[in-house]
Amino acid sequence: MPSLNANMLQHEPLLGARSRSSAFWNEYTETMPRELLDELHLKRLQALLRYAYDRVPFYRNLYQEADMVPEDIKSLDDFNRYVPTIDKKDLLRAQAVNPPWGDSVALSPDYNLYQFQTSGSTGTPLRIPFSLHSQLQYGEQWVYLYWGVGIRPSDSFYFAFPWGMFAGFWSAYWGVRCLGATVISGGGLNSEQRLRQIQLLKPTVLVSTPTYAIYLIELAKELGIDTSATSIRYTIHAGEPGASIPTTRQVIESGWGAKAFELYGVAEAGAIAPGCPDQHGCHFAEDQGYATVVDASGNPVGDGEVGENVVTSYCQMAQPIIKYRTHDLVRAHYGVCSCGRTWLLYDGGVLGRTDDMITIKGTNVYPAAIEYLLADVPGVGSHYELHVARGSLNDEVMVKVEPQPGVSAETYPHIEKGLQQVFKTKIGVSISVNVVNPGELPRYELKAKRFFDHRPKNI
Ligand SMILES: [Zn+2]
Repeated sequence: MPSLNANMLQHEPLLGARSRSSAFWNEYTETMPRELLDELHLKRLQALLRYAYDRVPFYRNLYQEADMVPEDIKSLDDFNRYVPTIDKKDLLRAQAVNPPWGDSVALSPDYNLYQFQTSGSTGTPLRIPFSLHSQLQYGEQWVYLYWGVGIRPSDSFYFAFPWGMFAGFWSAYWGVRCLGATVISGGGLNSEQRLRQIQLLKPTVLVSTPTYAIYLIELAKELGIDTSATSIRYTIHAGEPGASIPTTRQVIESGWGAKAFELYGVAEAGAIAPGCPDQHGCHFAEDQGYATVVDASGNPVGDGEVGENVVTSYCQMAQPIIKYRTHDLVRAHYGVCSCGRTWLLYDGGVLGRTDDMITIKGTNVYPAAIEYLLADVPGVGSHYELHVARGSLNDEVMVKVEPQPGVSAETYPHIEKGLQQVFKTKIGVSISVNVVNPGELPRYELKAKRFFDHRPKNI
């Protein structure tokens, strides 16, 4: 069996040289056999636990309460079994008790090169410090995606992003600096100005939320601009799921005349999962962190099963993230992907949030599972809403969907029937469908709201 390269025992960004034609940014780690990945994980986790125990009162107290010390962890199984999980509310509480940073940071603010926060889309934003090391690593996670899909230093990136406090797209920018490509800022401009800038400066890569990429396509049509004829050849998306959902991806790809890819990030943990170049979903960057996908009891799920993603970052050294419950539902796939990567695949990207799970007649249904199937029926457009209410026995789901432009109203009943049949056949439950007129559903610029949960809370 091959042995682990000694360099991998250190935090070593930008390992080695690569040929321009290589499909991998770091072939050594991206194709590393599972046994070596696990060996690497154990060494890095042990070092990280000791680092956090020595420097971070938040973790030291947590581990003392759990009656463990870092030296107790002698295997990945020990790590999965004995190390307590944390989640965002624990860090938010620490920051609230002792603002601004709480007792969960490892380095004094003097070492924090950048200070950002989460997007706030699920509540109070969490403050995120980055050291220089964290920033370099966080950026490099994006390069795995950029390089893997064929983007090179000769490309130029357009950032349709306001450059606010949200860490996600800043890290995408750090990635472009790492790659050595050109950056064009769309900050401080309205959407029409951004479209004009794209026409003038001819970037080859668009970075935005999927919702905003679609918003620009629709606005461009109104302005008489053909986005599919612009210089954009790749679109890169983060901030919300979408680029792995077939209907959404098709609209973006045909609208921009480009290939669309997703990066699944957790702002406080990193740009953790660059998209698969073969568009199967996202691969967890296993040389920069450790992830397990667990069931409701915290036990790892089997290959192909859905569970909650729990992550540990080897990059976030300013505010360590260890066994962090993301509340994101993913389908775990281990094994070698068609793209050649051995890294854990989140098949189909993020499938939803643990809070969003729907139960119909004992079957757990994930909102994304419904979204994926919309592409199975011709004539369904990219704007839709899922409404969930609590019936007398079950959750009840209603899908509102707009047709594609130009679809005649006479076909709406066929679309409704077709979707109901697809849901029944592929998910095994009855879901009602309502095709509404084009333009009837609200439009969003940054992130779309597609999931409406009308169920009573605290049940
Ligand atoms: Zn892949």
